[in-house]
Amino acid sequence: MKYYSLRHQSPPVDFRTATITGQAPDGGLYFPETIPKFPPGLRRELRSLSKATVALNVMRPYVGATIPDSDLQRICAEAVDFEFPLVPVEAGVSALELFHGPTLAFKDVGARFMSRCLGYFAQRGDTPAVTVLVATSGDTGGAVASGFLGVSGVEVVILYPSGKVSPVQEQQLTTLGQNITALEVSGTFDDCQALVKQAFQDPELSQRRFLTSANSINVARWLPQQLYYCFAWQQWPADAPAPVISVPSGNFGNLCAGLLAQASGLPLGHFIAACNANEPVPAYLRTGTFTPRAAVPTFSNAMDVGNPSNFVRILELFDNDLTKMRAALSADTVSDEDTVAAIRAVWESERYLLEPHGAVAYTALRRYQAQHPAAQGLILATAHPVKFPEVVEPIIGQAIPLPEAVQHLQNRPKRSVPLAVDYEQLKAYLMT
Ligand SMILES: *Cc1c(COP(=O)(O)O)cnc(C)c1O
Repeated sequence: MKYYSLRHQSPPVDFRTATITGQAPDGGLYFPETIPKFPPGLRRELRSLSKATVALNVMRPYVGATIPDSDLQRICAEAVDFEFPLVPVEAGVSALELFHGPTLAFKDVGARFMSRCLGYFAQRGDTPAVTVLVATSGDTGGAVASGFLGVSGVEVVILYPSGKVSPVQEQQLTTLGQNITALEVSGTFDDCQALVKQAFQDPELSQRRFLTSANSINVARWLPQQLYYCFAWQQWPADAPAPVISVPSGNFGNLCAGLLAQASGLPLGHFIAACNANEPVPAYLRTGTFTPRAAVPTFSNAMDVGNPSNFVRILELFDNDLTKMRAALSADTVSDEDTVAAIRAVWESERYLLEPHGAVAYTALRRYQAQHPAAQGLILATAHPVKFPEVVEPIIGQAIPLPEAVQHLQNRPKRSVPLAVDYEQLKAYLMT
């Protein structure tokens, strides 16, 4: 499998190069040259296969010859080594819970898969020591830290905005040690992201270190997200019509992976891009014009993205054809007020606890079903409610017990390196 740059100014590369460089030299995102079709047997047998076997079958064509099967098998098994239950919420709505991994959000699978691939390439000695540099508003950094912890040949540097991540999130970033360093920036997430961008564009720095990113731009983090949709299908009733799937979306990596799985032959129904007030994609579907904007803060903060990087991949999947896109994909915008109302209503009537991202997806699905009453739907529940206590706890009137997966971080000392919003400071740190 080769990957081409969506800007078409750089040569196609294999999975290994796409993974260790992250982005094409021309600044474009990599996209697979062909979309592999699921072998006919796979679709039939999907329900009876283990998660690890599904993962190996789906990922193998994308990885090609760059990782031998025996290693890929281990990488896949470790990447999906927890539960992905499909839980009924109420009539017509189920939740695929993607928050049972080590950092309680769906980014774990992509981060674990990518880190193990990068670790494999680094071990073979034909790859320079790699520094993964990433800015986080919360969830990405934790998933990357946990996924890369102890991977030899890979150093991880995470920039996060001081005082603007939740206590659980900060523990996930700052207490692991080993090859993980947290830089605590006295600024906003946008400041962190701007510093990281500048670092990637600094030729002097790239002489000194081989830098790569670990967000969903990277194919090794993006592509394994197709597996969620396979796991959903495994648990979906065999005699029911294909599910409508509502995906809480920020950078649109997850949704785009679902569309890819569908293009490979997974029998899924309509997709809904569920967004908060940051709505360039819903506006595009309405008007045909894509206008990036500065992000505005909301309760579902992992989706506070004003210029979603994977949107270009969605355009590519639909051949830039708006009519085609509208047939397969709807989009909706949900306010913070409606988000809170949904968490409250579902808690009161069903005793099922949503968190802000899942509640956005739930609300968008319900609105779609009001127009399409026969549609059976599922939402992707992308984070555990304990990560958003300030929104959720006042609604349920009690504290949410800390899940076992994060209890071990509780009493570990915080270690972070303070950093001003000053590129020279970041550069000095990275040059040593
Ligand atoms: C990252 C994230 C999202 C958005 O996913 P994208 O792939 O960026 O669209 C949604 N919910 C949660 C909890 C997240 O951490």
